[in-house]
Amino acid sequence: MNADAARIPESLLLAIGTVAVASADLEHVLRHFVAGLAGITAYDGGSLLLEGQSADWLIGNGKMLVSDDAMSRSDPRGPALRELFERAEQLKNARNTVIHGRWQTRCGWPPADADMCSPRSARTYDHPEFVFHVVRSRYRKYAVEQAWAVSEVDELASQMQALAQQLLDLSERGYAAVAQ
Ligand SMILES: [Zn+2]
Repeated sequence: MNADAARIPESLLLAIGTVAVASADLEHVLRHFVAGLAGITAYDGGSLLLEGQSADWLIGNGKMLVSDDAMSRSDPRGPALRELFERAEQLKNARNTVIHGRWQTRCGWPPADADMCSPRSARTYDHPEFVFHVVRSRYRKYAVEQAWAVSEVDELASQMQALAQQLLDLSERGYAAVAQ
């Protein structure tokens, strides 16, 4: 057990903060995007249904609205919309690890068990001095540990910002634009 949170560098703290800010923004845009898909405008009382709903709820219900069951199979927007929600879900899962995980400067596993700690990507250890370890405790499951480079935490924030911009553009240009 090590309590080394005080040794987490500012560059990582800044990157985690940027993910938190980007994620609140993405959630806001997602709320309007899902409302638009459901045919609810910001001025409808119906928009209250979406206020305060979590990213989980918004993505789950968004996926339902663009599923094969809900959308005509011949609707050309279907595949691209489903891909957007898949992307939102992947980013949300990574975001939950970054925001809710416990960060450590060193790996919690001995070298012999290093494969118990999965690197974020094949490039994580390109600059090992900038790699940190994050552990997520899950209900009735073994904790899962991942290694992230600070640049990958920054990258997650940029990916969330890019998706938010993409959803915003689609909301403004109309959902038909998604198929183009
Ligand atoms: Zn580790």
